[in-house]
Amino acid sequence: MSERITDIFAIDVFNDAIMVERLPKKTYAALKKTIENGEDLDPGIAEIVANAMKDWAIERGATHYTHWFQPMTGITAEKHDSFISPTNNGKVIMEFSGKELVKGEPDASSFPSGGLRATFEARGYTAWDCTSPAFLREDAAGVTLCIPTAFCSYTGEALDMKTPLLRSMEAISTQAVRICKLFGHHDVKRVTTYVGPEQEYFLIDKQKYLKRNDLIFTGRTLFGAMPPKGQEMDDHYYGSIKERVASFMKELNIELWKMGVTAKTQHNEAAPAQHELAPIYATANIASDHNQLIMECMKKVANRHGLACLLHEKPFAGVNGSGKHNNWSLVTNTGKNLLDPGKTPHENIQFLLILSAVLQAVDEHADLLRISAANPGNDHRLGAAEAPPAIISVFVGTQLEDVLIQLIETGEARSCKEGGRLSVGVHTIPEFRKDATDRNRTSPFAFTGNKFEFRMVASSMSIALANTVLNTIVADVLCRMADELETAENFDLAVHDLIKKTVTNHHRIVFNGNGYSEEWVKEAERRGLPNIKTMVDAIPAINSEKSIALFSKHNVFSPSELHSRAEVLYESYSKAINIEAKTMISMVNVQFIPTIIKYTKRLADAINSIKAAVPDVDISVQTDLLKKTSKLLTEVDQALKKLQDLMEEASTIEVGVKSANFFKDKVVPAMQELRAPVDALELIVDKDLWPVPTYGELLFEI
Ligand code: ADP
Ligand code: MG
Repeated sequence: MSERITDIFAIDVFNDAIMVERLPKKTYAALKKTIENGEDLDPGIAEIVANAMKDWAIERGATHYTHWFQPMTGITAEKHDSFISPTNNGKVIMEFSGKELVKGEPDASSFPSGGLRATFEARGYTAWDCTSPAFLREDAAGVTLCIPTAFCSYTGEALDMKTPLLRSMEAISTQAVRICKLFGHHDVKRVTTYVGPEQEYFLIDKQKYLKRNDLIFTGRTLFGAMPPKGQEMDDHYYGSIKERVASFMKELNIELWKMGVTAKTQHNEAAPAQHELAPIYATANIASDHNQLIMECMKKVANRHGLACLLHEKPFAGVNGSGKHNNWSLVTNTGKNLLDPGKTPHENIQFLLILSAVLQAVDEHADLLRISAANPGNDHRLGAAEAPPAIISVFVGTQLEDVLIQLIETGEARSCKEGGRLSVGVHTIPEFRKDATDRNRTSPFAFTGNKFEFRMVASSMSIALANTVLNTIVADVLCRMADELETAENFDLAVHDLIKKTVTNHHRIVFNGNGYSEEWVKEAERRGLPNIKTMVDAIPAINSEKSIALFSKHNVFSPSELHSRAEVLYESYSKAINIEAKTMISMVNVQFIPTIIKYTKRLADAINSIKAAVPDVDISVQTDLLKKTSKLLTEVDQALKKLQDLMEEASTIEVGVKSANFFKDKVVPAMQELRAPVDALELIVDKDLWPVPTYGELLFEI
């Protein structure tokens, strides 16, 4: 490598080191206070910071700046402004004011708002989030200074993914600090959620990608028969990386490192042409920003290498899809990870309390976690024996499970698989250490030693909502626990009783077995755990009474923000399926049917010529093939007509819950019916006639 990582890392980030270097001491101190303690920022300070930021950016070649935000589309948005400002002598100077840094006014009318903002009040605001550092991004447009911002309506309602995430980080910090204080840690002032998302993706040849309208318009293949080889040989997972992919990865890493993204691991995933990248974990808001950057960068760099990066959850039917494992932990400003069992008995008890709080939170709000991982793509993946089922459960491992069971059964735990016993008041709790022994890949929510891994998140989605939900549901339980413990007469006894009660009441959420098995589906039903199969079925959880009470209590979402999110979700589902169905119809009409007709004519011509040449020769093979093809063609035509009729009907249904359900219940199955005969034909029709690259070509020829 020509460039040393240490030299290029974060070279394009306006980070702490740059601020120390470039800001007057007083300004730096004031800004730091805002970043660390969430204090309001003085406008005078913003002016000085803006100026320093501009000088730094221009020195590094920047011509434009942009407020970089994350509207409810789930991807990022930006509008570029150049720094130029005209002077009296017909020239320009480069300017960037504090006001421009702190606030932007994009036209909000073209972003999803779920009814929060009528188009006649199109004003929306972007507000500088000084807790995520500004950075430079270099591409064909030149160098742009990107300022991470929150996006809200004129009336202050959040129109983005980031604002609620920041609010939820505040909520969990407040409650977790109360718990730490109860355990005597008075030096704990803040608790931060750390997140490490593992990003899965596919890389395919760009030229082949461009030959498929389904990939171009929907991000996934809507047709395609399985090739003779799939992933059954398990030869791709952790396999050696192909040269072309390796050079993509090299360039991707360098781009990411320059922007301060800690790209750390890379490997081939289970499916052919599938890969994964994981950064080192960071505070939840930065991890969320960086995950967006990773996804954007993957697409851009792939393009430069003649590749297309697919982030869709299920680009190929019958082949493993992509997800995002969201690793989550809680760390105090004194550096203690609250999900680390710790070394002393005292730490063990605090850990058990936090663990039981997470169990309770997940059990009470499994429906919210489910919707936080829902999108149309993930509907194809969850529960399909390749990803966690749509049922939420928690894996804790055998050692912890043993402790929990003893607590429930005897009220105390006398033994531990290793280690001694602790006393808590008059009771005992076993001592235990970090459990590194077992892992379970089939669990949607697994404890992995010192963090939880939420494995349901969709590969193309923002991780913001998943972490907003996680933070808030855990904050809520910690809040109720703190309420109870703060008034307890005997703290040790009260903690013991609370852990026991919580574990007993919520143990049903713990499942350490095979989450892909049919038995688990039945067992979960017996336990009363929700099994929410589709995105549309999951949406009502977001603005249920329970959810409104939860999010309002912790100031994460207002009721109107929740209603608007539900609207946005219904609408985005309908739109996605609408595009998929239209793409199918068009591909069948202008690509597949003409191809099949050509093929049947080829067969008919062959039959006629053979008959003319040698009248009594056996032509049963050709005739059978012609009959079989024609029969499938009829099936295609019938399924096409049905889908077209349904789409006609769909267009008359009002957008929202009704239309989303119509698409899910009627259109999606009809799409499946249309796909089946086309896929069967792909295996019959002459290869030279087939109008689109096949799965074999897409997955293996790169
Ligand atoms: P695996 O595939 O074995 O789960 P990876 O190394 O691919 O492991 O990804 C693990 C992710 O979890 C990384 O992003 C890592 O930085 C992150 N991680 C590790 N420890 C923590 C923690 N305490 N809190 C949050 N994330 C963490
Ligand atoms: Mg993992």
